[in-house]
Amino acid sequence: MNQRTRTLIEKDLSMIWHPCSQMKDYELLKPIVIERGAGVRLYDTEGRSYIDIVSSWWCNLLGHANPKINASIKAQLDRLEHVIFANFTHEPVIRLCEQLLEILPGGLKKFNFSDNGSAAVECALKMSFQYAYQTGRPERTKFMCLSDGYHGETIGALSVGALDLYAKIYRPMLMSTIQIEAPDCYRCRYGKTRDTCETECFAAAESAFAAHAHETCAIIVEPLLQGSAGMRVYPAQYLTKLRALCDRCGVLLIADEIATGFGRTGKMFAFDHAGVSPDIMCLSKGLTGGYMPMAITVTTDEIYDAFYADYNEGKAFMHSHTYSGNPLGCSAALAVQAIFRDEPILENAASRAAFLSGLMDETFGGHPHVGEIRRIGLIHALELVQDRETKKGFPSEDRVGYQIYQTALKNGLLLRPLGNVLYFNPPLIINESELTEAVEICARSIRSVLG
Ligand SMILES: *Cc1c(COP(=O)(O)O)cnc(C)c1O
Repeated sequence: MNQRTRTLIEKDLSMIWHPCSQMKDYELLKPIVIERGAGVRLYDTEGRSYIDIVSSWWCNLLGHANPKINASIKAQLDRLEHVIFANFTHEPVIRLCEQLLEILPGGLKKFNFSDNGSAAVECALKMSFQYAYQTGRPERTKFMCLSDGYHGETIGALSVGALDLYAKIYRPMLMSTIQIEAPDCYRCRYGKTRDTCETECFAAAESAFAAHAHETCAIIVEPLLQGSAGMRVYPAQYLTKLRALCDRCGVLLIADEIATGFGRTGKMFAFDHAGVSPDIMCLSKGLTGGYMPMAITVTTDEIYDAFYADYNEGKAFMHSHTYSGNPLGCSAALAVQAIFRDEPILENAASRAAFLSGLMDETFGGHPHVGEIRRIGLIHALELVQDRETKKGFPSEDRVGYQIYQTALKNGLLLRPLGNVLYFNPPLIINESELTEAVEICARSIRSVLG
């Protein structure tokens, strides 16, 4: 290790508390100092490179240091970096909304800006709550959500999340919610397979609505993909049924598309697979190509109209974030939209996804410790199990996924797992040779840990 790297690491560890980390782990696995990025690769101060197969926490959409996004931000930077967004506006944000209107599911027409995914979720929750209040149903104060869901780390977002890993300690601080048992297609409770599924598990939603819809203002879901739960994929029919049930019971449907938006599932939005629209959609991560912290809570005219009144009626949505509508974020997001229009990004991603599927099946299809290969769009996940027959997992204390992560890093692949689920969620511009290299390193790293 060169002296510069050593010094930077020492200083980092003397000051910085890294996200989602037991800092003691860093005694053995030091932070990697990244110098630059290009395409799907990151380069460290030691001259080593890493394929960013997790898109740097699912946000990098079109490659690191993408020339078009870079140019767009640079041009904006010399004009206007930021401006208060109450009573002020600017052209980049207006153009961005116009362009998103072209691609969003029907009916989503009003844009409320914030600066990260959790904030977009908080905004959606407060908006739903106030909507119920202002439409004559003040008793509807609760939220429904799915088990194993993830919606961010702030108190409201954590409340509608269900993963103990993130929420358990804070339960006494969190609001109580109505939790519906989520689809679990790998370990289906009805003994079905993906081919024979008729979303029997939707019965759990029906009974929860029967008991609690009268006190519920909204339900929030991660459409088709429960990401943090281990890239659990469930069928679009679940969303179609949920849309109908919400309509029947007067419950708003919030789509958390923070992870699934902008082509990750093979279509622009996960809800597009279901052919229905939510009432509120949360966007972040890929919105700016993974460049700038920006998020949007998009909603319908109907919801917007319930807040529109003379000032003294007190119906305004008194919710704000300092960096709402940040012009630099908008310039990055505009460049992302221009790239989607000018280049066959989704088409290319679809053919790479088919290629990756074939390669994964070939490499891991018969592997004794790969229980399931889950896939949607370019996202592919391997659930590691002790035994394929019983689907028994490895004890979490063994940290099998974490060991494979460390091995893969040494081999040039950033494969940060979710427990014992390894996944690929690469930038949509990844090519076949990069995918081949990543699968090869992944296989080698699994072999070196599990034999
Ligand atoms: C990442 C994520 C969030 C939280 O976004 P942050 O920007 O990290 O606050 C919320 N929901 C889903 C589905 C996510 O993947």
